[in-house]
Amino acid sequence: MNYMNEVSSFQIDDHWIIAQRPAKNHVNPKRPYTYFLEKERTSNGQVEDVATLFLTNRECPFRCLMCDLWKNTTNCRVPDGAIPTQIQWALDQLPAAQHIKLYNSGNFFDGQAIPTSDIPQIAGLLTAFKTVTVENHPRLVNESCLAFQDLLEPRLHVAMGLETAHPAVLEKLNKQMTLKDFEHAALYLVKNNISIRTFILLRPPFLTESEGVKWAKRSIDFSFNAGVECCVIIPTRGGNGALEHLQEKQLFCPPRIESLMEVLEYGIQLKHGLVFADLWDIDNFSQCDKCFDEQIRKIQQMNITQECVPPLNCDCNISKK
Ligand code: SF4
Ligand SMILES: [Zn+2]
Repeated sequence: MNYMNEVSSFQIDDHWIIAQRPAKNHVNPKRPYTYFLEKERTSNGQVEDVATLFLTNRECPFRCLMCDLWKNTTNCRVPDGAIPTQIQWALDQLPAAQHIKLYNSGNFFDGQAIPTSDIPQIAGLLTAFKTVTVENHPRLVNESCLAFQDLLEPRLHVAMGLETAHPAVLEKLNKQMTLKDFEHAALYLVKNNISIRTFILLRPPFLTESEGVKWAKRSIDFSFNAGVECCVIIPTRGGNGALEHLQEKQLFCPPRIESLMEVLEYGIQLKHGLVFADLWDIDNFSQCDKCFDEQIRKIQQMNITQECVPPLNCDCNISKK
């Protein structure tokens, strides 16, 4: 099936995406909605501890087709001081770590998400870390990033979703961004000595499995060419209403775990930077009961070592040959 022809008559916009949504979860503005410690390989080759906090704040103003992050957000701006309170609370619960990620289900430099008056206090809470990673839409990359950087002891990393280098699919994702926007934002960050991490979707809607793999690889190439230091491959998952609707119309299907492995191998062997596979909710991608756990272990190993591992010898692989 040519998915892109199928979709040409299908109107996807903010209104339609919002109409497909199930209800939000209840969240507490005084607490991050989740937080944990994880081990991650850093660009200097060491494996170090990262405190990852998912801050509770106002929903992102963009309405990307595949996004489910709005589920754990508020409708209104959280009170001044709530974000530093959340960070301090999570740091009190977690063991010490070398790095911190402050993910806010949107854009760190959106004043309606993280009140600007809280920024100095936030910077003050981060002095013990080597790096801090925040997420932001490429079109919201501006001098606010530099002002935050000036207040920080740790090195600033900005995570931006490229999603896909496929121009027509990117437009359909309703991210309100072009590839040029991404390149401009990346250039600005690189020039100002800010590291970039990017999120790449494996098999977004409207692509077949093989197209999904091909475009995830091209998206890695595009990202490294733009100056990105770290690519995170995210298997596109349902759960936000819109993708379920597209799945019913055969315009979306989650990728296979083998495809995730293939794209991860491709990115690692380039040796242009770090490449990780995102394993969040990975149980939903199970296709073979016999080898699924082993596949996950291999992907975890590749994430940590940044070395490829030999393919699995399972009946499911043999039957595909
Ligand atoms: S910019 Fe990010 S957080 Fe906002 S809707 Fe898109 S994917 Fe979700
Ligand atoms: Zn198998």
